Amino acid sequence: MATNRTFTMLKPDAVEKGHIGAILEKISASGFRIVAMKLTQMTKADAETFYAIHKERPFFTDLVQYMTRGPIVAAILEKDNAVEDFRTLIGATNPADAAEGTIRKMYAESISENAVHGSDSDENAAIEGAFHFSGREQF
Ligand code: GDP
Repeated sequence: MATNRTFTMLKPDAVEKGHIGAILEKISASGFRIVAMKLTQMTKADAETFYAIHKERPFFTDLVQYMTRGPIVAAILEKDNAVEDFRTLIGATNPADAAEGTIRKMYAESISENAVHGSDSDENAAIEGAFHFSGREQF
């Protein structure tokens, strides 16, 4: 498998509950290298753009409200097979369906407040990483 990159956010619920350290430890122990990382807060316009694919969904307003209510940790991660392996590490969108030991199973509350984001394709990983980081912030 080629080394590639994915993009993640530790979402406001995870930050509010003090889970930044534990989640980053799990990510690191799972073999991901941090390429870029920052604590930041999305504006309404940021969240509407980032989640534009969901704009017709009934939960879109709630999703934007949730993702903008407090700080997030945004990061680009690198590993062999990064996108797929990170989706496995975080688990299903709904923590009730997530496998034991996954980040969402351990730290997420519900399908809406699910602790962590992970890109779903190499193409989206590149788009999402570039949304949050300039080239100079990537190592
Ligand atoms: P992901 O790729 O696993 O994050 O899932 P999706 O791309 O389908 O959804 C994006 C995000 O929207 C999820 O991570 C949740 O935060 C939120 N979301 C998804 N489905 C629902 C839902 O049915 N209700 C609410 N309130 N939020 C949802």
